[in-house]
Amino acid sequence: MIDPFGRRVTYLRVSVTDRCNFRCSYCMAEEMTFLPRHELLSLEELDRLCGVFIDLGVRRLRITGGEPLVRRDLMTLFRSLHRQIEAGRLDEVTLTTNGALLARHAAELAACGVRRVNVSLDSLDPDRFRALTRLGSLDDVLVGIAAARRAGIRVRVNAVALRGVNDDEIDRLVAWAGGEGHDVAFIEAMPLGETGPARAEHWMSLAEVRQRLEGRWTLRESEYRTAGPARYVDVLETGSRIGFITPFSHNFCEACNRVRVTCTGTLYLCLGQDAAADLRTPLRSGGGNAVVREAILAAVQRKPRGHDFDAARLADGPRIVRFMNVTGG
Ligand code: SAM
Ligand code: SF4
Repeated sequence: MIDPFGRRVTYLRVSVTDRCNFRCSYCMAEEMTFLPRHELLSLEELDRLCGVFIDLGVRRLRITGGEPLVRRDLMTLFRSLHRQIEAGRLDEVTLTTNGALLARHAAELAACGVRRVNVSLDSLDPDRFRALTRLGSLDDVLVGIAAARRAGIRVRVNAVALRGVNDDEIDRLVAWAGGEGHDVAFIEAMPLGETGPARAEHWMSLAEVRQRLEGRWTLRESEYRTAGPARYVDVLETGSRIGFITPFSHNFCEACNRVRVTCTGTLYLCLGQDAAADLRTPLRSGGGNAVVREAILAAVQRKPRGHDFDAARLADGPRIVRFMNVTGG
């Protein structure tokens, strides 16, 4: 799969549910209406769809959501993807999770060949964590992270940088993650979904975050890369890394190798654009995988050059009306 700008699509993010046991303020509204269950692809359909993408050259897959671990029987999908890894058809399967249910699943994920997970952790203060996630317990997440590490899974902690919310904890997060042997990635909040006027007020550039970090830590550019958009530095004092995911201040689109599938089978060609294709209809058409394959190949020809998020226009409301939990992070 090569798009019109010569970029090869080798990385697929699959959102397996739009539901979540948290309601993080930058991701969701307090009152969310979730999709009716009949609109969701079954796990068998998701597995079939992943198989077609793998046939077409996808080598890395990330399972995300909503909160992926709230989807019942999700491990059947991981078991099937593990078979693809063992057959040499896939290099890696990873997971993005809020960590609340990770303790329950860590051992099985490791057995299914999952070597890395990203766990969202925006604050190490229990009360603030609860306020930010509206429903989450910091303790559950920390227990989940510890379980993943015991199972031999590497953890990267993801924190959205929010002025006046957690920007006083940036050093603490780096120190804590470094002490535990985890990398940490900071993320600029993106204008996805109507989460309210606080978005512009709390938005913070990672250029500023990095500048502040440089006052306290010795940072060195790192060669380390994953399939994702983070750019890393080594922290000499801790031996861990800090990743920066900067949709605004740094344009990472030119090397974009990714597409995303939602839990209803909609293919999004770019996180920050509306270009999409329905894959559920071809999947259910009775025409077999060939029709799905054709639909994917046609869609990749419409992959946009990049997003056009603009920090100066945050107060105008969301650039993209769908919430992050729909497209998957
Ligand atoms: N529930 C899982 C989790 O929280 O890790 C997976 C899905 S979540 C949508 C994936 C990532 O997107 C999380 O790291 C979250 O912090 C991030 N995220 C959600 N909404 C965002 C937004 N508006 N801007 C930037 N990142 C966002
Ligand atoms: Fe749920 Fe993840 Fe969104 Fe938080 S960021 S509400 S945990 S999907």
